[in-house]
Amino acid sequence: CGIIGILGTKPAAPRILEALRRLEYRGYDSAGIATLDSGEMFRVRAPGKLKNLEAAMESVKTPGNAGIGHTRWATHGAPNENNAHPHTAGRVAIVHNGIIENFRELREEAEAKGCEFKTQTDSETIAHLVEIELDAGKPPFEAVKTTIAKLRGAFGVAIIIKGEEDLMFGARKGSPLIIGVGNEETYLGSDAFAVAPFTDKVIYLKEGEWCALTRHSINVFNDDGEQVAYTIDTVLGVA
Ligand code: GLU
Repeated sequence: CGIIGILGTKPAAPRILEALRRLEYRGYDSAGIATLDSGEMFRVRAPGKLKNLEAAMESVKTPGNAGIGHTRWATHGAPNENNAHPHTAGRVAIVHNGIIENFRELREEAEAKGCEFKTQTDSETIAHLVEIELDAGKPPFEAVKTTIAKLRGAFGVAIIIKGEEDLMFGARKGSPLIIGVGNEETYLGSDAFAVAPFTDKVIYLKEGEWCALTRHSINVFNDDGEQVAYTIDTVLGVA
């Protein structure tokens, strides 16, 4: 339901929580955060309100300046901690808004390749597909490109990869996603409210577009994988 992603210069988890609070108005049944630090990936999730996530964060540490967060409105799989996003597979963590319509066949394909699914969500499939490609030796960019091309349905997605602390991918199709442009920082958000505490400079991804971000670079692609131009807009009145 709500997405935030941060490639930042200070601890990400408290900022992700702050952004998730700004997305509460959309409604949600659970929430979670994944971060990257020192070659490791960290994750905390909780059913119910953000105060439950905040309480869980007392004992489960999510260090690092890069991370993604999500408020979930369940469509596939019960609203519980295990089905809460981010979902992981190997070194990949993802958050997803919307519905992957062909997830059953994609899941069967992944299971046939030995992937073990941990949740009942359509979303987890995305993490496995990226991990399969990474496992096959593809670089992150190619792994994400191949995965996005397989997805049918509606999605806003943010993807991070363990060991890649200056890299984040986003994709949108039928579900909005924006890039936030900061000072030495970049962000993803399901809307401009999510990134408003950090920046008023946003790029509205167009239908079918996806992006590869580092703290100092923004590359946007169309659904044929061709690089496309973007414009940075200044948002007024959302902070
Ligand atoms: N379909 C996904 C799920 O049920 C994402 C739902 C959402 O948009 O929050 O987990």
